[in-house]
Formats: sequence, C-alpha cells, structure tokens
Amino acid sequence: MKFSNIFKLFVLLSLGSLCVFSSTLAQYSSECSGSDAALAAKWNFRVGNAADNLHNQGFTFDVFDNQPLEPQAGGENSFIVSGGQSDVAIEYEVLMNVDVLLDISGIGDGNDYPPLIFYVSSPSATVLEPYNEWFDLNDIETDSEGYFLIAAGEFDSNSAEMEEITIHWWWNTSFYVGTPDPDITSAGDYYDKALSDYNSLVNIYNNLANQANSFFEQHQRIVTTVDGVEQVTYNCVAGDACPYGDSDEDHMAAYNLLVVNADSALDAVNNSLKMQYDAYDTSALAALAGLDPADPQRIGIKVVGSQVTPDKI
Ligand SMILES: [Zn+2]
Repeated sequence: MKFSNIFKLFVLLSLGSLCVFSSTLAQYSSECSGSDAALAAKWNFRVGNAADNLHNQGFTFDVFDNQPLEPQAGGENSFIVSGGQSDVAIEYEVLMNVDVLLDISGIGDGNDYPPLIFYVSSPSATVLEPYNEWFDLNDIETDSEGYFLIAAGEFDSNSAEMEEITIHWWWNTSFYVGTPDPDITSAGDYYDKALSDYNSLVNIYNNLANQANSFFEQHQRIVTTVDGVEQVTYNCVAGDACPYGDSDEDHMAAYNLLVVNADSALDAVNNSLKMQYDAYDTSALAALAGLDPADPQRIGIKVVGSQVTPDKI
C-alpha cells in the first residue's frame, strides 16, 4: 500500500497577454441596385462612419474598432445608412459575412469556432431575429456566399434621414463551452463567475491536500519486514490525542480517505469551467494568431440599397 503521496498545492495561473489584433478581420462593402430609370434620377444612397463621412462605394468598417481580440474582450462599432435625399424611395438590407471566422479550424473538437458572439442593434432600422440578441457562430444561416441578413430599412423619396446600425461583439467562451451566459451582474461576467467557482474548488483541494500532507507530520511511519512480509505501523506523534484512532487499520483507512478526497477535489479543479474556458481560449488564440497578416481575411458587411418599385410605394 502506498502512503507516500505528497500533494502539491495548486497555484493560480492565468493566461498571458496573448491577443490578436482585429484589423485583419474587418471590411465593409456596399452594393446599389436599381433600374436604369431610377439611376437616371438622383440616387444618393450612401453608407459611412459618420454623417459627414458617407460613401456610395465601399469604405473600411472595422467591426472590432481595432480592439484586441482576447478573452472576455468586447465592444461595438456603428455605421450610418443614408437615403441622401434621393428622388426615389429606397429599401435596403444589411448583410453580414463571418466566413473568415467559420474557416478558422483547430479549436477544440470538430466545428469549433473562435469564441466570439455578436448582436445587432439600431434605433430605427429593423434588426432581424435572432441577430437582435447575442448569437454565436453556430447560430447563423447563410446564403451560398456566406451572407446572412441582419437588418433592413426604408427611406421615403427625398428623405434626409440617417439610420445607425451597431454591431456588438464579445469574446464569450460560455457560448461554446458549457451553458451560454450573456449576463454581467455584480458577480461579474461568465468568466468572473467561473473564476470564483474555481478559486473555491482550489481552496477545497488545498485544504484536503494539507490534511493529507500533515498526516506525515503527525506520524512516524515504521516499516518492518518479518519473514518477507512488510508490516506498516504508525507512531502517533500526537499520542493519545490522535484524531485517526488507535489501530494501524484505522490509520490506513483514515489516510486512504484523505487521499481519495484530495484526488477528487483535484479532479474538480481540473474539470472546472474556468479550466475548460482557458483550454478553449488558448486554442482559439493560437488559431487566430495563425492568420496570415499578408493575406487579410475579413468579416464582411454588405449594404444593398434598391429603389422601391412604384407599386410598393
Ligand atoms: Zn495517529
């Protein structure tokens, strides 16, 4: 029987400052369509970062606003769609394409994606379900080119209105491991909660490890061999006050229980959500860092404006 386990105490580890800059993951493009007749009239459908920075062709829109992609990071970025007082009524659609994220492989098992979640909001445009609430990369249904419709709106002819659309993002691993948790409460976000649970499990383990280790401080272990048979006895340093009883059998049983409890507490630490998040995040960071900066891969936003046909006006 082995009594010599010495348990190592657990030391808290955290992920380093690894992060991936997002500038290779952003792009905007726009498309306009309309009949020749409409285009002969004033057509001034435009999209841009700000009211004084509107374009009728593409402009650079970084969903991540140049924030580093790293665990628990999040943010938002907005753009404006303008009818530009066009002569015709306009309806438009906003589509998103995250094929670049879906193509990143080597995270976890199978089709596991970077642990990013998104939602879309707008004070005036219609945001389509389910993209008006946090969605993960498993939730989207794309067309054959990888686009999915996130928002739509309309402008009357001669409208000078502008509609703002905001894309929110969050590195939230809980949508990919365990149970999705979009809440940030006083207890913190999904990771803070997992870290708190983890710290409790570490404390439990460390206490049990200390108990198991202190068994040897309280006992002198004596091994004697009689006729080739090894016999283990204990000399209690604590004497009659020993909490583990009087007999060697009691001591063995007590120590075995300490070992079992410490082992299962260590399993609980190693299987905790925090450890699972860390493993997934580490893998995702490595995959994102492996993107070739010389070959920018981009999240696409496409805004398609078209003339409302007369019978719809
Ligand atoms: Zn004892």
